[in-house]
Amino acid sequence: MNNFDLHNHSNCSDGQLAPRELVALAVQGRCDALALTDHDNTDGLAEAAVAAASAGLRFVNGVEISVTWRPESLHTTLHVVGLDIDPAAPAMAEGLASVRSGRHARAALMAEDLARAGITGALEGAYGHAEHRDMISRTHFARFLVEIGKARDVGSAFHHYLVQGKPGYVRHDWTRLAEAIRWIRESGGIPVLAHPGRYRLRPMQMDELLDEFQALGGEAVEVVTGSHSAEDMRRFADIARQRGLLASRGADFHGPGESEWAPGTLPLLPADLTPVWARFRAA
Ligand code: AMP
Ligand code: MN
Ligand code: MN
Ligand code: MN
Repeated sequence: MNNFDLHNHSNCSDGQLAPRELVALAVQGRCDALALTDHDNTDGLAEAAVAAASAGLRFVNGVEISVTWRPESLHTTLHVVGLDIDPAAPAMAEGLASVRSGRHARAALMAEDLARAGITGALEGAYGHAEHRDMISRTHFARFLVEIGKARDVGSAFHHYLVQGKPGYVRHDWTRLAEAIRWIRESGGIPVLAHPGRYRLRPMQMDELLDEFQALGGEAVEVVTGSHSAEDMRRFADIARQRGLLASRGADFHGPGESEWAPGTLPLLPADLTPVWARFRAA
């Protein structure tokens, strides 16, 4: 009973599948539990919970919150996953609404920047790929770029566009680390630092981030995730041991053909780590 997959997306944010289709894949992947962790919204949780209940799969309410860390200096985007949250908690619902609110203006600026590089129609094109309009994201722009033949797949769209220094990149101010952690805690959930190996931080900056994360009430780090190399997994397993952090595991699945790991197929957590699910409220 340790095949917990606690980081996955549906088409309520930038995933390709409906929540119930994601649940079906988790059953296929023989998951013992699944968390849906859409970016900055919780709209898919109810559908996923119903589908999981009828399939006999344990389901965990989650979210992945976009954060800007050290806005005055580094201005680095981080993702904080909240697990076992109550999506109806006012702090969470209002907080997420405020994070989402900047996405339309940002998308318009991204489209203007792409137009300057000769790519027109990106705003309408990206919205055409977004099931939920207020969750318009870079992934929807990437799918549009693939659709019009400017990139062969979503990964290469993110190589040539949409990232710092490339057409379509727009610097954006998300919420603060302290706020994201507070919303998660006030909704009864556990704050998890998502895919720490992906942030381009020097070892000392990573140390400072983890100090701050823990001081604010952060309790877990993702050790095994679809975006970690084997070396990242070893590194953050060691960090979890040294810091007494709980360990999490999740595919960060966005869709077949876009994500290498389907729900439930990643390596298991090292057995000596304390899994984050040890802290979940009783199922
Ligand atoms: P946004 O919140 O709109 O900035 O979009 C962030 C999302 O873009 C992430 O959650 C990923 O799903 C996707 N993304 C970012 N970088 C890459 C990449 N290099 N390859 C594929 N997807 C990426
Ligand atoms: Mn995403
Ligand atoms: Mn993420
Ligand atoms: Mn994610």
